[in-house]
Amino acid sequence: MFTIFKNVTWFFKREKYGYAILLLALCLISFLSIIPPTIVGIVIDNIAENSMTPRNLIYLGSALLMVPLTIYILNYIFHKTMIAKGHELSRQLRLLYLGKMFSTDSKMFEEYNKGELISRLSNDMPFITMAATNILTDTVYCFTLITFVIITMITTISLKLTIVAFTIVPVIFIILTLWRNHMRKYYKIHRKIFSKFFDDTLETIEGQRVIRAYTQEDNDNKKMRDSIDADINSWITIIKFEAMFGPMFDLTIAISTFLTFAYGSHLVITSQISTGDLIAFTSYITMVAGPIVMLGNVYNLLNQASIGSERFFEILNKETEVVDSSVSKDVLKFDKIEFDNVSFKYPFDERNVIDNITFTIEKGQTIGIVGKSGSGKSTIIRQLLREFNITDGQVLIDGEDISEYKIDSVRQLVGYVPQVHTLFRGSVEENLVIGNTQADESVKNSAIDIAAFRKDLQYMNDGLNTYIGESGSGLSGGQKQRLSIARAVIKNPEILILDDSLSAVDANTEKEIIGNIKEYRKGKTNLIISHRFSVIKNADKILVLSEGKISERGTHEELLQNKGWYYTHYMEQVRGSSND
Ligand code: ADP
Ligand code: MG
Repeated sequence: MFTIFKNVTWFFKREKYGYAILLLALCLISFLSIIPPTIVGIVIDNIAENSMTPRNLIYLGSALLMVPLTIYILNYIFHKTMIAKGHELSRQLRLLYLGKMFSTDSKMFEEYNKGELISRLSNDMPFITMAATNILTDTVYCFTLITFVIITMITTISLKLTIVAFTIVPVIFIILTLWRNHMRKYYKIHRKIFSKFFDDTLETIEGQRVIRAYTQEDNDNKKMRDSIDADINSWITIIKFEAMFGPMFDLTIAISTFLTFAYGSHLVITSQISTGDLIAFTSYITMVAGPIVMLGNVYNLLNQASIGSERFFEILNKETEVVDSSVSKDVLKFDKIEFDNVSFKYPFDERNVIDNITFTIEKGQTIGIVGKSGSGKSTIIRQLLREFNITDGQVLIDGEDISEYKIDSVRQLVGYVPQVHTLFRGSVEENLVIGNTQADESVKNSAIDIAAFRKDLQYMNDGLNTYIGESGSGLSGGQKQRLSIARAVIKNPEILILDDSLSAVDANTEKEIIGNIKEYRKGKTNLIISHRFSVIKNADKILVLSEGKISERGTHEELLQNKGWYYTHYMEQVRGSSND
């Protein structure tokens, strides 16, 4: 349970002065809180013994006024400092988490889905801040106050009465410990259920167009209702337990008060303590009642917080496999990239999706890759982006293993147009210059021309300033593809990768783009995946992929002569298009 504090020790160290102020203020507050009941006890005994002087009355009265005033000021300092520390920790944790999202490799996103990753930040992280602020300070406050009160009870009133009044407390703590262990299980299950609910909600919102188009509203509604019910039901289980055990603290106080009166009256009658003592003692009991109840809540929160912290730091502490070493090199240019017997399986898969892939990319070449859907085309080129480590074999850049180079540096070589386009909310121009933030007008214009995107701009209300919604909404499929190509081309990368990036583009525009790439990218390398033969037939080398293996290779003419898969499917497509 205390690993939660261990995980943020760095923060405590960094903020040691702030925490020192917090702890000091707390100790002072708890100490000062004991004074008023003590004064009341003294006043009562003075009155009973008829020994109160006007001077004493003024002293005691002003002390009774000054103490709450000082506590008020201390409380102000305390709360201000604590809230500031809480926000600062939350800022740091968010930065760490987002930093992790960038520094981690793709394995993380295979293991956890979006809802899970978001809920750990939005739902679990606040528990850590709470633990490092409220929970910690409440615990310190309760313990110091209870300790001060007990010491005062023992030293100024009676050890025997104190023991009797608190006999019940250890019993309650044993019951609580058992309860905590039991609840942990439920809290964990609940977080999982909540993450699923989060995921389902995201999916419903993101998928609303398809859901409506397929009139799946009822089914989706049912899925969401089940998800909400599961969340509520798991809450109900938790609340049932909390309702059962929470009031135990009130019961403890009631029993303590009863014991105090029963035994205290006996002590007064036998003149072992005064009436003022008994009244002060009862005030002390009432005074510790608050902190004892508070400890119950703290206990419960700490329980939940430790699970939140476990879930949050599980992500932060996840090892990243694709990392630079201290001797990783830069790479700005290359002459040759070799795939040498490369095999790869996705992290949570059993089998290789590409197997013993060997081929060479010479600088300046255009390589075409074709093959059935699912044959491993995208997987092959993803190896150049260093999303994962290769399972077997080597990818070599100029004879050196790709892992010897800095990850960013390798990625800089590549302009990647993925199969599924990702555009961001913002203007067309903002999306375009992601590829090259330094691009001047002529570079932008040339990228727009190469990607045949100029004519699209004419149809947009504000040209380059047109606002694009989430995931590129507002643009047609072809426009998204052309903008994505322009974004890659603007980088003028050493290697341009088009992963089936022309699928939504008509035949003429496709021809135009391919022609432009050939013309403008002389001397640079292109890797083009397509299911349309027209896109790749002029490539210097074509690889045919089948079930993760290269089944045929050569130029278009060579492959036609081969009379294999390439020939059959090419002929089918040619016939198909002439029938159109
Ligand atoms: P292609 O691009 O030729 O259509 P892919 O390279 O996308 O094929 O996929 C090759 C195989 O790998 C497919 O069987 C696919 O189901 C599997 N696959 C793709 N992505 C993943 C992934 N992230 N995790 C597990 N398997 C995957
Ligand atoms: Mg693919």
